[in-house]
Amino acid sequence: MPNYERSIAAFKEAQKYIPGGVNSPVRAFKSVGMNPIYFERGQGSKVYDIDGNEYIDYVASWGPLIAGHAHPQVVEALKKVMEKGTSFGAPTEIETALAKLVVERVPGVEIVRMVNSGTEATMSALRLARGYTKRNKIIKFIGSYHGHADFLLIKAGSGVATLGLPDSPGVPEATAQQTITVPYNELDSVQLAFERYGDDIAAVILEPVAGNMGVVPPVAGFLEGLREITKKYGALLIFDEVMTGFRVDYACAQGKYGVIPDLTCFGKVIGGGLPVGAYGGRKEIMDQVAPVGPIYQAGTLSGNPLAMTAGYETLSLMTRERYEELEEKGAYLAEGLRRNAEKHGIPCTINRAGSMVGFFFTEGPVTNFEQAARSDLNRFARYFQLMVEQGVYIPPSQFEGMFISIVHTKEDLDRTIAACDKALATLVKE
Ligand code: PMP
Repeated sequence: MPNYERSIAAFKEAQKYIPGGVNSPVRAFKSVGMNPIYFERGQGSKVYDIDGNEYIDYVASWGPLIAGHAHPQVVEALKKVMEKGTSFGAPTEIETALAKLVVERVPGVEIVRMVNSGTEATMSALRLARGYTKRNKIIKFIGSYHGHADFLLIKAGSGVATLGLPDSPGVPEATAQQTITVPYNELDSVQLAFERYGDDIAAVILEPVAGNMGVVPPVAGFLEGLREITKKYGALLIFDEVMTGFRVDYACAQGKYGVIPDLTCFGKVIGGGLPVGAYGGRKEIMDQVAPVGPIYQAGTLSGNPLAMTAGYETLSLMTRERYEELEEKGAYLAEGLRRNAEKHGIPCTINRAGSMVGFFFTEGPVTNFEQAARSDLNRFARYFQLMVEQGVYIPPSQFEGMFISIVHTKEDLDRTIAACDKALATLVKE
């Protein structure tokens, strides 16, 4: 058993000063019944906690670290920029360099605005969609998470689902009423919503691969159907690619699945581990954003040189070949996990999109949140503990996926599959 003495003391101290001891809820490990682990250092595919324990890391800071921890190219570039000053609140050339990379790679993006988080990206994109269409309502999918803006915290996934929380107090009822929620992967429900409210629906926002109810890829025809319906009713289609952007494919999920949205939101990988978000789309729509157009959105630290550099260097590392390697690693890991579950006769479903791998303790299939929520959460909690004890750090929630990076080795994956085998063997006995 690893020793967690220092993490336990650190958490006790933090709880005196920080709500629940954490600055983001899932970090508290509440649903997995463990003291949170305090990390000190990350290198490549590994993280090290303050008690000196080593883990193979599949959380990757919840997705951004597709190049692993402290990649030398990213660190070197950051050092150089840092010595010249950390922020100017004025334009710098690196912002344009990153924007250009995004525009070149993402089919639906002609022009892109940088912000500081995924939450800011989705919030701003929806303001733009409402301003552009002069409509009020939005459609989101049950169990999807798009950050914590009021109108998006309705039937949300991620930590909201992990903690089993109802819709958040503090969201005004009038705001909540503008959000229509429907099951993921169900076109009929979307069609019904449009038949009823079509002339006041500004946008449909979705994760093109849902990653906040565990990993749930779109079923065949779902994205295409949404494209068709939104077009027919004059609403915008917004892909929230905060998680999938530059994660599932060189050209993001829209490139992988060949469906082009009107607006796209980014975060995570685009910042390479520093705080960045972005939203972009067709020029004609983006031209409504200030200072060109009247729709306001701003940020003191937006386009920060350090954040832009980390994003630029990370995306530069991510060639098409690297995505092919990630696809292979994802398939290898998923197959190993599936074989283990089969061997031990444990009902489970493994979903995958590229290097995002989801492991549900339920028979499946899992194509929406209702099905994901049938997972045995107690079993997951125990599985998490058993994996961590063996030095494999997976997300502390059934409703999040594992992320593989370009620096995970075959040995890492084999050790992970072996740890899973042992954990499941223990689960069956207990
Ligand atoms: N959208 C999606 C799809 C996300 O996964 C997240 C965060 N997990 C967000 C938006 C919010 O991003 P942030 O936490 O950077 O505000």
